[in-house]
Amino acid sequence: ILKNLSKRHLFCSSFASRSASTLVLAEHEGGSIKAPSLSAVVAANSISQDNSVSILLAGSGSSLQQAAQMAATCHPSVSQVLVADSDKFAYPLAEPWAKLVQLVQQKGGYSHVVATSGSFGKNILPRAAALLDVSPVTDVVEINGPQQFVRPIYAGNALCTVRYTGASPCMLTVRSTSFPVPPISVDSKSDGAPISQVDLSTLDEDSIGRSRYIKLSSEDTDRPDLGSARIVVTGGRALKSAENFKMIEKLAEKLGAAVGATRAAVDAGFVPNELQVGQTGKIVAPELYMAFGVSGAIQHLAGMKDSKVIVAVNKDADAPIFQVADYGLVGDLFEVIPELLEKLPEK
Ligand code: FAD
Repeated sequence: ILKNLSKRHLFCSSFASRSASTLVLAEHEGGSIKAPSLSAVVAANSISQDNSVSILLAGSGSSLQQAAQMAATCHPSVSQVLVADSDKFAYPLAEPWAKLVQLVQQKGGYSHVVATSGSFGKNILPRAAALLDVSPVTDVVEINGPQQFVRPIYAGNALCTVRYTGASPCMLTVRSTSFPVPPISVDSKSDGAPISQVDLSTLDEDSIGRSRYIKLSSEDTDRPDLGSARIVVTGGRALKSAENFKMIEKLAEKLGAAVGATRAAVDAGFVPNELQVGQTGKIVAPELYMAFGVSGAIQHLAGMKDSKVIVAVNKDADAPIFQVADYGLVGDLFEVIPELLEKLPEK
């Protein structure tokens, strides 16, 4: 009981002060920090005025070191970069990562741990929270201080303000679309935050779990990533076949856009499920979202309604998608898309 009391007392005093120390779990690829992880740094910076942000990176090889250099200079709030360099982290498996977060948290005593709400964060953070015996706050879209967060509920139909009253650390997944990364000027002459290696000697083989990386299957495409694209072109069930769905892909190519799909289109096998937008797919908020033959079910809207400009084409004037659309066209997509393809200039 005494142990718990002192833990709780420590927690109260760390949250009572305005300062916070936040650990951001970052993803990297090809020597660069992925864009959603930069949003997590922006979110971490808004937890308190006086926040010191540490970035945790794991992996192996030279691309990890390049990513660490980028992390060190990515935002003025970053005070240190922690690097776990080991073959155990060659792939972002949840089990070793969760153990790593537990190890780093036990040494660093951070008040907050933040990751994005993509598959990386959703996979790792709840597992790490269980190891640290705290409840995570997920899908945060607004931060109003060290303990107060806004998150969507009922498939995004309502926003709920929650106050975190659990033990430290407060662990959050944040929606990257809600924390856009502004152009940040970091003193180019400075080397950035110090980079240090995490001592992994206590992470033995048995303690990191039994999951194994087998392979990554992903479409080899030049199209932008759906989660961070400026323009998304989405097709729904109305496309009727995978063959017809190629019209959406052609249009996306001409616009330099990512391709999205409704769950009905994915379930019908027109496209792989990594393209699904919505409550059980990806959350996107591009500058332009074009929806063709999409009814606008609430589960789909939950993934795209924060887009800046929404264009919808549907032959049913009463389709719910028109309630969120900035520009709506009542028409047949099999006429509209070929016309658009004809009128848009070649890339
Ligand atoms: P439909 O609802 O069948 O709509 C097709 C639309 O195309 C209609 O509005 C029709 O008027 C229009 N149309 C037909 N022909 C043409 C034409 N020639 N030209 C123009 N318009 C035409 N859905 C998601 O998308 N993402 C999710 O993440 C998701 N998660 C879910 C989670 C749960 C728990 C549940 C229960 C459901 C979820 N769904 C999700 C499914 C969702 O409820 C809808 O069933 C789905 O979004 C409908 O897809 P759709 O708009 O393509 O198809």
